[in-house]
Amino acid sequence: MADNEQLLGSVLIANRGEIALRVIRACKELGIKSILAYSEGDKDSLGVKEADQAVCIGPANAAKSYNSPELIVSAAMAFKADAIHPGYGFLSEKSNFVKMVEDEGIGFVGPSSEHIRRMGDKIEAKKIAQAAGVPTVPGSDGVVTEFDEALAVAKETGFPLLIKAAAGGGGRGMRVVESEDTLERDLNEIMNEAQSAFNDSSVYIERYLTDIRHIEIQVLADGENAIALGERDCTSQRRNQKLIEEGPSPAIDEELRAGLQEAAINLCKEVGYKNAGTVEFVFDNIERKYYFIEMNTRIQVEHPVTEMITGVDLIKEQLRIASGQKLRLTQDDIQIRGHAIECRINAEDPNENFAPRPGKIEHYRAPGGFGVRMDTHIETGYTIPPFYDSMVGKLICWAETRDECIDRTLRALDELKVDGVVTTGPFQAMLLNSEQFRSGDINTGYVAKMLENMDELPSDAE
Ligand code: ADP
Ligand code: ADP
Ligand code: MG
Repeated sequence: MADNEQLLGSVLIANRGEIALRVIRACKELGIKSILAYSEGDKDSLGVKEADQAVCIGPANAAKSYNSPELIVSAAMAFKADAIHPGYGFLSEKSNFVKMVEDEGIGFVGPSSEHIRRMGDKIEAKKIAQAAGVPTVPGSDGVVTEFDEALAVAKETGFPLLIKAAAGGGGRGMRVVESEDTLERDLNEIMNEAQSAFNDSSVYIERYLTDIRHIEIQVLADGENAIALGERDCTSQRRNQKLIEEGPSPAIDEELRAGLQEAAINLCKEVGYKNAGTVEFVFDNIERKYYFIEMNTRIQVEHPVTEMITGVDLIKEQLRIASGQKLRLTQDDIQIRGHAIECRINAEDPNENFAPRPGKIEHYRAPGGFGVRMDTHIETGYTIPPFYDSMVGKLICWAETRDECIDRTLRALDELKVDGVVTTGPFQAMLLNSEQFRSGDINTGYVAKMLENMDELPSDAE
């Protein structure tokens, strides 16, 4: 900790798994007291052992623990936490929760409830992007409720088109419509799905782009200034969910990067954004143009990719901003060096349609060596609880070049052993080792296409 640095005294962490541990580690290094709010399902987790203090807030059922604003806020008050770090998922993008935190006078390691509310509505976010002069995917002007309106938009976008829930997230709340024949039925179904999944039936329409990459820009902002920390390429997806992320993108040159970064910064300045955020774009491989799709107003799963290529500890910067400090870094301080790749290691069986495979880890062996980082809460003897998502860790590798980074990641995946459960590691190794990934010439559909032609997927199942 630097002398006289103004920092929060204590932070309550309202999350679990690897991200809880990640925040605890940053707090320790800064001399901030970490208080972990955990559920009964996580009582034996590494986060509980490593936090300065830990408080059980409820049963394993997330609705009665991690997703309960009342329980989190009362734990923060009882332990006199100066601020709450929400991690990702759970309450991290729930503006009502953050409003409650603000009203109690507790700090929040993230943007204001107002920013979360406005950006969390993907329709409003798109309007803000347009106001900031950022290109967006052609589609409806706003919410679409009637078949007639949808049909009129379809005349502009053509088919296939994409219906998206304004409140969607985590790859859910999206449907591709192939033709006019099913448009009415699809519209009604996705509105119903959005209502039950997100408690908001608002949907909108976008042109469905077929040969695209997912490119996102990491930002840090203090309410006045904003800086961009390069891009992450998250094109390796299955069912709109990210499997592998890397930076820099093999498809982006200096000029495109400058344009993307400027767009992301303009968006932040348009609303006076504060804390860390990610501005997501789809990038058309043919036209080589980018379009804003959404902003995530929180730290993201794949943030270590950016940390490895910039040397900036994003969680510490989040904590500094939440402590009331202005950005310490300027745009000129951000230099991209080398290449980083992250694999999200999920306890899932690729040969059972990626069904979750929780259970006891009989033996865990961490990969190591130069440029290898494993962010995980698992250890030998730990039982992965069945109540939460199936991500058990992230393997992030850094090397001077993309090719060397692929080889290093393959080597590290080979060292990684999580005996007792089935993981996606061998499947990710196959993707990394494919000619397509190596060439860098991929789109968001390449994984699905590869899967179509395979009967059996590589697996560490015993
Ligand atoms: P990131 O955007 O950080 O790359 P994801 O989009 O996969 O990662 O989301 C991060 C976590 O938050 C995942 O655990 C995901 O399941 C969860 N999540 C994101 N948005 C929602 C949502 N609207 N409803 C429920 N869970 C969500
Ligand atoms: P989420 O909130 O679930 O992360 P996003 O809006 O970020 O939803 O989209 C998730 C993924 O869906 C993108 O990374 C991309 O692969 C795909 N996608 C989103 N919009 C479009 C579009 N207009 N055309 C084609 N694919 C899209
Ligand atoms: Mg997204």
